[in-house]
Amino acid sequence: MYTFKSIASLQNDLRQGKTTCKDLVNASLSSIEEKKHLNIFLETFNESALKQADLIDAKIKAGTAGRLAGVIIALKDNICYKNHKVSAASKILENFTSLYSSTVVERLLAQDAIIIGRTNCDEFAMGSSNENSAFGKVLNPLNEKTVPGGSSGGSAAAVAANLVHVALGSDTGGSIRQPASFCGVVGLKPTYGRVSRWGLIAYASSFDQIGPLTKTIDDAALVLEIIAGADEFDGTVSSKPVTEYSKATSNKKIKIAYINDCLDNPALEPAIKSNITKTIEKLKQQGHTVDGVDFKELEYLVPTYYVLTTAEASSNLSRFGGVPYGYRSKNATDLESTFKKSRTEGFGKEVQRRIMLGTFVLSAGYYDAYYAKAQQVRRVVRDKTLAIFKDYDIILMPTTPGVAFEHGANSADPIKMYLEDIYTVQANITGVPAISIPAGVNEQNMPFGLQLMARPFEEELLLATAKHISEI
Ligand code: GLN
Repeated sequence: MYTFKSIASLQNDLRQGKTTCKDLVNASLSSIEEKKHLNIFLETFNESALKQADLIDAKIKAGTAGRLAGVIIALKDNICYKNHKVSAASKILENFTSLYSSTVVERLLAQDAIIIGRTNCDEFAMGSSNENSAFGKVLNPLNEKTVPGGSSGGSAAAVAANLVHVALGSDTGGSIRQPASFCGVVGLKPTYGRVSRWGLIAYASSFDQIGPLTKTIDDAALVLEIIAGADEFDGTVSSKPVTEYSKATSNKKIKIAYINDCLDNPALEPAIKSNITKTIEKLKQQGHTVDGVDFKELEYLVPTYYVLTTAEASSNLSRFGGVPYGYRSKNATDLESTFKKSRTEGFGKEVQRRIMLGTFVLSAGYYDAYYAKAQQVRRVVRDKTLAIFKDYDIILMPTTPGVAFEHGANSADPIKMYLEDIYTVQANITGVPAISIPAGVNEQNMPFGLQLMARPFEEELLLATAKHISEI
């Protein structure tokens, strides 16, 4: 069977006839079937994937294939693909079919990628363990007793288990980077506004970004290069030109900051701390500047994130009322009970909790105390983060406080679960790009990631630095 190493080597092998798109699709579909018990895929798109494969095999022969020819890609189940189902892993959207494709899907298909199916995730991307899916939990392929992370848990697990070459996820507070860390793969959250959100089912619109989960940093760079850039369907996307991320290299000395309290956090697993400390030492030996800086706002990050994202979610999810589309309760007797019962029966517990929290923080009596205050804190966090970037090129930190935890370990305590996001939410609150790269494993052989953040739209430097660190 063909062993995938990177998109670049796959392109060569396809051109040289060492494999075909048809073989790749068939192999992927049978591995997904073999690993069915992991519950990674909610559905595979056999028919459209096999049809694509034939078309692209012909293009390869004719020498007209795109840059992602034959790359087998999985979509998180909140990214729309025309005439294919999408459910946000929610009962409220079960059996809903996309009427149009997201911009990212259009761009992947234009480069001859093959979309193989949709992956399980936390319902409406709310969660850190993939245990909030209405369609069952996902097992981490590296240790089935543990979670794959969330909310893009199925996407990370699909790459880690070699079921696909690339997966797309969405990241509102860490949902690409945290599962990447738990599954030992690369996860990239682009700058807010780098990638179009058109066709992404919204969770918190001022935080959400789509990004790749891959085996290598080069692959993440190439996929970003293809999906990024201006889009008339999303007014929040920047028209800044997309540079050749896949060629990003850096040989100059850079200035790196790490936040003291992040490394001194008593909850940080010792193996992660010592790994990061060693990396810092190596970077210093190479002549890079690496300094610890203070960031007093650290303790406000998670509360700010949860006030603002639940507020946005309560508004975004108000469209699911059982009337125009989605689940409609059979027990409803009039319009009001249609809304109430459809939402009560259609949404899972965590989504309901967040809608209620969001409605509360936006309500007349509490708006100023919570929502307005959190917006002010968001501005302070952004200003202070950008102030670090005046003196430093990169901020380095762990992706997560620990490795993948066991199923159920955090389920009874939502606050404990929310604290999983301590290191990842800063990039979403401020909109800066961030990447998690595999850094090492603990004594139980479970992987963890190292996270880097850069200034807005400096993905090139982010990727080049990530590559450098992965090689030292
Ligand atoms: N774990 C975070 C949450 O539960 C992040 C989710 C995300 O990035 N979509 O909200």
